[in-house]
Amino acid sequence: MTHTGTELVPRLVELYRLMDLAYGEASERAGFSCEGCNGVKCCTVDLIVHTFAEMLYLRRGFSALEKTLRLEIKQRCRDILRAKSSDPLGSSYREAVCALNFDGRCVLYDHRPMICRLAGIPHVINRPNSTQSRAGGCHRFETDISPVFPHITIDRTSFYKEMAQLEISMIQELGRRTHSLTVAEILGGCV
Ligand code: SF4
Repeated sequence: MTHTGTELVPRLVELYRLMDLAYGEASERAGFSCEGCNGVKCCTVDLIVHTFAEMLYLRRGFSALEKTLRLEIKQRCRDILRAKSSDPLGSSYREAVCALNFDGRCVLYDHRPMICRLAGIPHVINRPNSTQSRAGGCHRFETDISPVFPHITIDRTSFYKEMAQLEISMIQELGRRTHSLTVAEILGGCV
C-alpha cells in the first residue's frame, strides 16, 4: 500500500461508514429491506466507479479473497468485458450481472463502491449553483415504499463533496487522474 493508500483508506472507510449510517436510518424509517432480492436489477455491469480511492479499495478487498474465488471473479470479468467489446448494447452485456454478485450477495460487500452503497433509496444532491437534482429508488422501493413514505430520501451532497476531496488528494499525490471504470474493468486485470 502506498503512502497515499495508507492515508486515504481510513478516510474512505469513515466516509463509507457515514453512508451506511444514512442508508440504515432511511431504510429503518421506511421499513425497507433488500432481503429476498437477487440484486440483478441493481448489480448491473455498467455501474461506474469514478475515483482512484474507490478503485484502490475495491482491489484491496479483492486481493484478500481466497484464490479460487479470485480466479472465478477474474473469469467473470473477462467474459463481461468480451461481451461489452463485441456488442456493448447487446443483451449478453446489458443483461449480465456484476462479477461480484454470487447468488444475490456481493462477495466484496464491505469494499463495495459508493454507487452500490447508496442504491435503492431515492436521493437528492444539492449543487453549488443552488439547484437540486433528485432521483428515485429501485423498483421495490418505488412500488412498496414511496406511496406510503413519499418524502424519504438520502441527501448525498456531503458524501459527494468528501469523495471529491479525497480524490483531489489522491490526484495531487499521484499526479494524474483516472478514467471512470466498471467493476469488471477495475478487477479484470488484477492478479
Ligand atoms: S460491487 Fe457488489 S453491490 Fe456493487 S454491483 Fe457488484 S455485486 Fe452489486
